[in-house]
Amino acid sequence: MRPGATDVRTIEELEKTFRGSEELARRLARVIHERFNQARKVLGLDSIKIMNFCGTHEWTIVHFGLRSLMPKGLELVAGPGCPVCVTPSKYIEDAIRLSLDGIRVYTYGDTYKLRTINEVRGVTSLEEAKAMGGDVKLVLNILEAIKDSRNNGKEAVFLGIGFETAAPAYAQAVLSGKMPDNLKLLSLAKLTPPAMFYAMDILREKPPEPPVMGVIAPGHVSTITGAKAWEPVAENYSVPVVVSGFEPLDVLLSIAEILRQIISREAKVKIEYTRAVTWSGDLKAQAMIHKVFETVDDAWRGIGFFPLSGLRLRDSFARMDAFKQFGIKEIRPEEWRKDTPPGCRCAEVTLGKAKPTDCPMFLKKCTPEKPYGPCMVSLEGTCAVWARFGGGGVADEIARELGL
Ligand code: SF4
Repeated sequence: MRPGATDVRTIEELEKTFRGSEELARRLARVIHERFNQARKVLGLDSIKIMNFCGTHEWTIVHFGLRSLMPKGLELVAGPGCPVCVTPSKYIEDAIRLSLDGIRVYTYGDTYKLRTINEVRGVTSLEEAKAMGGDVKLVLNILEAIKDSRNNGKEAVFLGIGFETAAPAYAQAVLSGKMPDNLKLLSLAKLTPPAMFYAMDILREKPPEPPVMGVIAPGHVSTITGAKAWEPVAENYSVPVVVSGFEPLDVLLSIAEILRQIISREAKVKIEYTRAVTWSGDLKAQAMIHKVFETVDDAWRGIGFFPLSGLRLRDSFARMDAFKQFGIKEIRPEEWRKDTPPGCRCAEVTLGKAKPTDCPMFLKKCTPEKPYGPCMVSLEGTCAVWARFGGGGVADEIARELGL
């Protein structure tokens, strides 16, 4: 057998099973309709919300039109699961400053257009900084940054943005001894469970109408953390949590399971994404993250300061730490200010309290080509997903009018 042939066939089989089975999708949609009717009787509510924490789930929901399959009154709302959207403006301003001072800044493409709320020497994004002569280089991963900085010997910094899925690669780079002395890591990586707790706290203090009664937890993050990371959400907030894969049928199955639990008055963590996620997660990756990083209270753009939600390099790796080597100051909780641009409703969008279409700037002043707010920048940003694939657009309006 040709090397790799098994992998290719497996991927095709997975696609056929989870994407190509229209009949199964229709049956699942019927199950969701039936269960939703029972669930609202159990809860005594006309409508309920299910939060999909992760930007990639939002992509699946919008791209495959899953909202149009939902019964009237069952709302799927996005959560704060886009790392670029929640990276504080201040740290991008710091990166702009470094690039204009001639220090090479390595960044992912989706961070390039992220706008800051304060100007740095007349500049409000890394893209503009580059146009003004700043040294900004786009990379796909930290290994590219290591290779490039080794070759040119320039002082450089890598913007380490991401969630638990990105952190093991940063930890591995640090531990491998391959980082050259001229390259520093600005660790802006974040942990998702604390954000979920905080989002649920906020939503509980001021419940939206309708309330969030279930959570679709991120599948890729859970490959690292394990499904156990979400147990406190189910226990403390009495809501079912389902760790879901990213194919349309994964999401439909997860919604059906959340409704089943509501009907039987359960609030448990279930793994739908069993082909990739275990209860305990990737223990080796967890150990690597723990060895390299300490957890700190961290700022989430527009939303607030979450306890123990950020990863910073431990003191033993201080010589690689851009915070320490370039004198970058951490945001202190008492200094935190809402850092979304005026009028941008990104914070509400990331907490499931508003839809992108509720923002008057959506697809007017704020577009994927010229993003105004942070949720319009990354492919995982809810506003960008809706803008690119039509969530809340004409198709949804027609479906609503037809009562679908
Ligand atoms: Fe913010 Fe733009 Fe989304 Fe409005 S459309 S909430 S300005 S990102």
